[in-house]
Amino acid sequence: MSSAYRLTPLPDVFHSCETDQPFTHCLDCERYLLGGETDYLIEKAVRTFPEYDTREAVFEYAMCLDCYETLWQSFSEASREHVEAYFMEHVNVTERTHRFLEADGDELSAWIGRCMVKGTRRDALEEYQLVGHARGDQLVLSHFPYLVSGAAMSEVSALLSNETRDELGGFMDEFFGLPPELRKTPGDPVPVAV
Ligand SMILES: [Zn+2]
Repeated sequence: MSSAYRLTPLPDVFHSCETDQPFTHCLDCERYLLGGETDYLIEKAVRTFPEYDTREAVFEYAMCLDCYETLWQSFSEASREHVEAYFMEHVNVTERTHRFLEADGDELSAWIGRCMVKGTRRDALEEYQLVGHARGDQLVLSHFPYLVSGAAMSEVSALLSNETRDELGGFMDEFFGLPPELRKTPGDPVPVAV
């Protein structure tokens, strides 16, 4: 992980859509997340309905980095390499991090105002995933947070091995109980390299 970062109070966009409050516990080990220095990821898959001017979370969760590391390692080595290579090819993470950290202004929109891969503005997207790294009640600004559009997620999804798809399917079944028809993009989490 890049050593350059800054902390900012956890913004509403990373609160749970279900409760309108910050996530409080790790999805997997259920440890309390807001008590101090615990590092965790927040991932939200959002679908918008422009005709109704609404959006909903297809799924959302917070997971401590220990559990996330275990999940990441459960994916096949080939899938992990393909996902990492995809982001390395399309995004200059180091340059992006430094540029955003040095910029003034409405800083969060720099990180999540557009698809990190495609550059599409968030308000033009029907589907996207938001991924943030938080520590207690703070959001860590580094190469996180970021937004990935449905189009980019489809490309990442196509790089995954069958084995990894099964792992992700099991993950979604275990924690969200989503039927397969709701697990199309963006219903499947995109593995993120931490
Ligand atoms: Zn955990």
